Parts: sequence; structure tokens; C-alpha cells
Amino acid sequence: MKGELKMFNSIVEKLLKAEEETPVVEYIEARKLHGRIDLSLNQEAMEEETFRDLLEDLVLTTPRTSSKLFFNQLFGGRKSKAVLGDLLAVMLNNSMYTYKVGGPQVGVEKSIINKLCEMVGYGEAGNGTFPSGGSMSNLMAMIMARDAHDPKIKLEGTAKKLIVYTSKASHYSTPKNAAMMGIGRNNVRFVDTDSKGELQSDHLEELILEDLEKGNTPFFVNLTAGTTVLGAYDPIPPTSRICKKYNLWLHVDGAYGGGVIFSKKYKHLVAGLEEADSFSVNAHKMLGTPLTCSIILTKHSQQLYDSFSNNAEYLYQTDGDDFNLGKISMQCGRRNDALKFWTLWKSVGTETLEKYVDQQFYLAEVAREYISNHPDYTLYSYDDSISICFNYKGIDANELCTLLYQEAEIMVGFGQFQEDEFIRFVTINSENKKEDILNFFAKLESFVAKSVQLSSEVTR
Ligand SMILES: *Cc1c(COP(=O)(O)O)cnc(C)c1O
Repeated sequence: MKGELKMFNSIVEKLLKAEEETPVVEYIEARKLHGRIDLSLNQEAMEEETFRDLLEDLVLTTPRTSSKLFFNQLFGGRKSKAVLGDLLAVMLNNSMYTYKVGGPQVGVEKSIINKLCEMVGYGEAGNGTFPSGGSMSNLMAMIMARDAHDPKIKLEGTAKKLIVYTSKASHYSTPKNAAMMGIGRNNVRFVDTDSKGELQSDHLEELILEDLEKGNTPFFVNLTAGTTVLGAYDPIPPTSRICKKYNLWLHVDGAYGGGVIFSKKYKHLVAGLEEADSFSVNAHKMLGTPLTCSIILTKHSQQLYDSFSNNAEYLYQTDGDDFNLGKISMQCGRRNDALKFWTLWKSVGTETLEKYVDQQFYLAEVAREYISNHPDYTLYSYDDSISICFNYKGIDANELCTLLYQEAEIMVGFGQFQEDEFIRFVTINSENKKEDILNFFAKLESFVAKSVQLSSEVTR
């Protein structure tokens, strides 16, 4: 192992230096990838030196998602204490299904779950787990909702037409999960949003009544805390009242924006969260933990157990169900995603996680203010969001983002809401400073100025 650790250190040092000097890596066309790096697998072992060089080349040609100029997705930056935890998780290579194999690591996971349950107001009645990502967290919520509606479905299946409600601006995992569960994509109702992208609860109730009229069976409502494009927060209290009235499970998908529970200043965006039956949050988004680190919480701990426990004599051999986390998870073998979040949280404290969240909103304000003061820009997003959606000089967002990527200038993506397509600039990297945000705009503007020709060529 010593040789590999040395190799690791030397490659990582080069990576860190490269990230500083060249925040956006040179673009390699997908169809030319295999010609550029030898990724083939061979019969013979490789000579150590050649292997090292190849590995270094692979690392240094990979997109730099932790750099100052990566704004393409809903994650960014690198929290060193979290990285340390993840490296140790790999070294330990536990599986989180039993206490026998996970030992104190099980306590690490439980400690985070308990603390989060306390923070969202579920208290002792709550429990949760770390699924493999936000999509799977949402799937677990839908499964619990189905079983809470009718526990027999798990055993016998059902011919009932189960109906799911989610907003038009919600993440694609909801219809995908409905498809995977046999509920069917066509039994997902997409509720209208207002101009800010927030679900309209009046329309939700109308849709529920229509379904009841038709003899369908509504059972699940998904709200989003931070929609994937605009970063909008759906209103919890009016939706919760509707869910109680019609006896529906309310899930809040906070994969993107759920991190606001750490901020005194912004947790009002999820006011009423304690009324929801379940809540998911990705620590790998707002909370800066490496991918993937997703958490699902529910205030019905018995339902979590009833939906996901199975007996297996070959697996569960010691200790109680409380410490054998496989009884409340989807997977059998499960990676230790908790440790990296714990090493971060334990070392920097809750107050620092709060600062990370607040910094993202501050950077978003800097960006919105810049846009508002510059007439060449059009803004499409709203306050209280860390997604800043805009267009510059009316240039096609898709073309501009793609050119910025291919020319290795900036990694940023584009999105759509209703009729508009725009650049989606995400200030999720809390290590960035005001000047990094201003630098983004400066780079964008000088790129456009020097490549008017380029972009008009693409248009033709
Ligand atoms: C990112 C995201 C998800 C999916 O999470 P993954 O970990 O990527 O599967 C779900 N919902 C919302 C609102 C998201 O932004």
C-alpha cells in the first residue's frame, strides 16, 4: 500500500496545482477519447512507471469539478475534512448493513440521522438512512407512501390506479420512480407552478378531486425544496393541509436546496417541514460533501422498517435491528457515505455548515446584483435561490455554454423554464468569493467579445 499512497500523493499534488493554474481542462471530443488515452484492458501486467504516467494523464485530463470555474452542476468545491473522511471510508471498506461489520461507523451514521431528525422537527419518532443518491431517496419515500397507504400491496401487488402528484418544475426522478415501481408514468400528475416556479396548491387540490371523481387512488405528493433549474421552494403549509385532508403522504425533495435547514437566515424557505412525512437532502450539493451523500428522513420510523426490512440469517447474526442498518435500507451491501459528512460536520461544527449555506446565497446576491446593473443581461430567476438564470446579449444559451466548454473557458450549463431557455449559473461552491463571481462575468464577456465570429459560425 505504501507505494500506492506515495503515488496518490504525487498525483493529487499535480492535480491541485493544475486546478489552480487551469481551472477548466482541455476539451477532448468524446469520439476521440480512446485515441487520446489508452484505456484498453490487456492480458499482461503493466510496468509500474508506465502505469503511473497513464494514471496521472487520466486524472489530469478529467473535468475539474472542484475548481473556481465549475458552475455546471449542483455541486462544487472541495471540503478537505470531508475528503479525508471519504478516503478513510475507502481504506476501511466496511459495509453499512450490520453492526458486526460496521461497528462504530454505524454509530456515525445514526448520529447524523438523529441530529438531522432533531433539526427538521421529527425528533425521536424519526429515522432515516443514506441511500445511493437523491433519486433513490425519493424512491424510498414513494415506497413508504405506498405501504403506508396499503400494507398489502407489498405482498400482493395491486390493480388500484395509484396516483402521484409533483410540480412541473420538479426533478425527473419522480416520474422515473413511478415507472420503476409499476405505478406508471401516466399516473403522475404535474401540478402547475407560478411564475417563480413554485407549486400551486390550488391546482394540486383540483387534480386530486378529478382523480377521486374518476375512482383513482391518490397516495403521494412530492414537493421540491430547491427546484433543479430555478431553485424554487414549494410552499409546504398549504400543501400539507391538503395532504392531511385527503390522507396523502407528503414528501419534500430537498436534494438541492434542503441544506437551508442549517441556516437561521434561510430555513424559513422550508417552513412547515416538520409537517411532511419524509424529507430528503443531498449533502453532496449545498453541504459540500463529495458525491454521493444523500439522506432520507421520515417521521415514521416504523414505516421505514416495515417497508425495507427483510430477514436473512446469513447476514443478521448479532446485535439488534436498531444497529443493523440493512433493515432500513434498499441495498444489501452499502457504502459508508456517512463518514465523510461526519468528519466535516464534527470538525468544523454546525456553525460552519451554516456559513457555507449563507455564503452560497451571498454569492447569488452578488451575481443577481451584477446582472441587474448591466443592461446586456436578462434575469429569469428570483431572490432566495442560488441558481442564477440569465441570458447575455440575447445569445443562445445552449450555444454559448457549449462553446465555453469546448474552448475550456468556463463550465456552466443551461436550463429551461416555461418558454425561456437561459444559462443556469449555480453559486454552490462556498469556497468561492465575490471576486470569483465577478471573474465569471468578466470571462464570459471577454469570451463573447473575442468570439462573436465563432458564435455566428455556429449559428449558421
Ligand atoms: C439533484 C436532484 C435530485 C437527484 O439527486 P441525485 O443524487 O443526483 O440522484 C433530485 N431532486 C432534486 C430537486 C435535485 O436537484
